[in-house]
Amino acid sequence: MALLSLKNLSKRYLSDRGEWTEIVRISSFELDAGEQVLLQGESGSGKSTLLNVIAGIVAADEGAVTLDGTDMRALAESARDAHRARSLGYVFQNFNLLDAYSCIENVELGMAFGGKTDVALARKLLERVGLGERLNYRPDQLSQGQKQRVAIARALANRPKLVLADEPTGNLDPSNAAVALDLIQSLCRENGTALLLVSHDPSLKDRFERTIDLSELNEASSLLPGSEGLS
Ligand code: ADP
Ligand code: MG
Repeated sequence: MALLSLKNLSKRYLSDRGEWTEIVRISSFELDAGEQVLLQGESGSGKSTLLNVIAGIVAADEGAVTLDGTDMRALAESARDAHRARSLGYVFQNFNLLDAYSCIENVELGMAFGGKTDVALARKLLERVGLGERLNYRPDQLSQGQKQRVAIARALANRPKLVLADEPTGNLDPSNAAVALDLIQSLCRENGTALLLVSHDPSLKDRFERTIDLSELNEASSLLPGSEGLS
C-alpha cells in the first residue's frame, strides 16, 4: 500500500477576472514509504497549492488524500490535525520559525503538536544538523542557512512518515542550499521518511529516485476517463 495516495484531486481558485481555474487536477498519484520524489513545475503551476492540499492546510474541492492508510476526509478536524502533526513534516522556503522562541523550543513546539515532547531528541536533531552550539539562540540570531537547518530538525521531530519541502533552498546561497538538501535527504533516509520536495532547479534531478512535472501530471490526468477538466 502506498504511503500517500491522491485520487481524483481537484482544487480551483477564482481568478481576478472572476473565472474559476482548476489549479490542481490529479486523477491518480502515489508515493511509497521512504521514497524521495522531486516535484517540478513552472512558477504558478500549483506546486505549493498541491503541497498545502496534501498537508490539509488548503481543502481540496474534490478527491481524496489518503495518508498512511487514513482518508483525511474521514476524520474530524481535531483528529485530522493530530494525524497530520504525527505523520507529516513541512519545510518552507521562508523557514516559518517562531522568532520569540529558541532553536530547541521551536523543535519542541513541533513535537508538542504531535502530542509528545522529547527534549533529548530535540537536542540530538539539532546536533545532527550542526547546531549543537546554538540550542538557545533565537532565529533572528542565526544565518539563513542555520535557520533552515532548525526548520529541517523541526520537520523531522515527530519522526513523520512524510516530509513535504516547498523550495527549501530558494532563500539560500549555493553552499547553504547544498548543505540543507543533503540534510533533508539524509535525515529522511535515516528515518525511513518519504520526501516530496518542490524545486524549480533541474540540477536536483540526479539526487532523486523519481521526478515529476506538475503540469504533466495535471495534463495526463485530463486525458483519463472520468476526470473531465473545467474549462
Ligand atoms: P507555484 O507554487 O507552482 O508557484 P501556487 O500553488 O503558489 O504555484 O499557485 C498556483 C496558482 O494558484 C497561481 O496562479 C496563483 O495565483 C493561484 N492561487 C494560489 N493561491 C490562491 C488563492 N488563495 N486564491 C486565488 N488564487 C490562488
Ligand atoms: Mg510555490
